[in-house]
Amino acid sequence: MELAGPGVSIRAPGPIGQTRPLSSASLGSWGVLTYRRGPESDPFGYIFRSARWLRDYDPPGVFPMWVNLEPTNVCQLDCLFCSRQLSQRPLGFLSLSLAKSLAREIAGSPGAAIRLTGWGEPLLHPQIRELVEIIKAEGIKLKIYTNGLALTQELMDAFMDLEVDDLQFSLQGLTPAQYEANRVGASYAALRERIVLASQRRGGREKPFLSLLTSVLADELELADPGIFTQQWLKLVDKVAVDLTNLNFVGQSPRVRPHLDRQSPGLKRGRCVDVFLALEVKYDGAIQFCGQDAQGRAEHTIGYAPALSLGEAWRGEALERHREAVGRNLGHAAFEVCRNCYHNTTKYDLFQKSLANSEAAQ
Ligand code: SF4
Repeated sequence: MELAGPGVSIRAPGPIGQTRPLSSASLGSWGVLTYRRGPESDPFGYIFRSARWLRDYDPPGVFPMWVNLEPTNVCQLDCLFCSRQLSQRPLGFLSLSLAKSLAREIAGSPGAAIRLTGWGEPLLHPQIRELVEIIKAEGIKLKIYTNGLALTQELMDAFMDLEVDDLQFSLQGLTPAQYEANRVGASYAALRERIVLASQRRGGREKPFLSLLTSVLADELELADPGIFTQQWLKLVDKVAVDLTNLNFVGQSPRVRPHLDRQSPGLKRGRCVDVFLALEVKYDGAIQFCGQDAQGRAEHTIGYAPALSLGEAWRGEALERHREAVGRNLGHAAFEVCRNCYHNTTKYDLFQKSLANSEAAQ
C-alpha cells in the first residue's frame, strides 16, 4: 500500500535532491523524499508542484487529480501494519470492461492520473498487462504500486514497452530484519533481486521512473539510519521516500498493540486533504471517499461504477457533504474510518511548511 495520503509530495526541509544525515527526531516530524536526479525528474512533478496540490485545493477542481484504482484485494503477504488483516471483503479482480470504461472517462480530463494500488498486490491481477495496456492506450499517466515480489522480467519489459510512468516499490523498515518482521511472508533478498532486475532492465531508458517507499516504526529508527538506507537504494532507483508507519487503523490487532503507543506521535487532528485531490475505485466498482477503508463500508462508499460516473461522484452531494465534515471541519469522530485516520493529524501541515521552506531556500 501506498504511503498514507493522496501521494508523495514530501520534501525534506533541507536542499531538495540531496541526502543528508537524519536523526530519528527529524524523521519523527518530517517525511523525507530524496531524488537521484532532482525533483524535475519526477513524472508526477506537474501534480506535486501545482498550486492545487496540498495548497489551493478548495474548492476542488472539476475532476480528481488522481484516481486510485484497485486491481485486486488479493495479496501474498500478511503485513503488520496493513488493514487488510481486519477485512472481510470478498476477494476479487477488476474486470477489463470496467477498466476500459473508467479509463475512457479519466482520459477526458487531461492531467488526471491513475494509481494502481488498493488493498491487494496489483501485480497479482492475472491480466495486469492488459490492464496497463487499456490505461496507456488512453494516454493516461500511470503509477503502479507494488510490493515487488511478483515482478518478472516479462512484466518489467511490458511496463517499459507500454511506458508506465512510475513503478513504486513498497518496503518496510530500514534493514532486512525490520522488513521481514513487518512484511510477514516476504524475503528481503528476493525483493532486492526483483528491484535489481527492474533497474537493470530499465537501464538508461526514461520509463518507468523507479520509486521506492519505506515506512518505519519509531523503535526501528533507533537501530538504523534512514540516510544510509536512502543512499544505498538510490543506486538502483530514482526516488526514495521514508515515512512513519501508520498503525492507527489496525490498533485493535494484538500483534500491533505493543507498538502503538510509541508509534502515535501525538499530533493534533487536522483537516482531510484527500477528499479534494483523489477518488478511490475498488475492484468491484465501488467509488469511495478515499483509500483508507479496507472493509468496503457503505458509509464510505459514494456509489458504483459504471452506473455512477467518476465525475458525478466527484461533484455530487455525498462527497461534498464529506468534504464539509472532514475537509473543512473536524467532524472525523462521526465516521468509523476517519476517526482512526493517519491524516487526522497535523502531518500535512508539517509537509506544507516543509514545502514552503524548501521553496524559500531555492
Ligand atoms: S479523514 Fe476520512 S476521508 Fe480523509 S483520508 Fe482519512 S479516512 Fe479518508
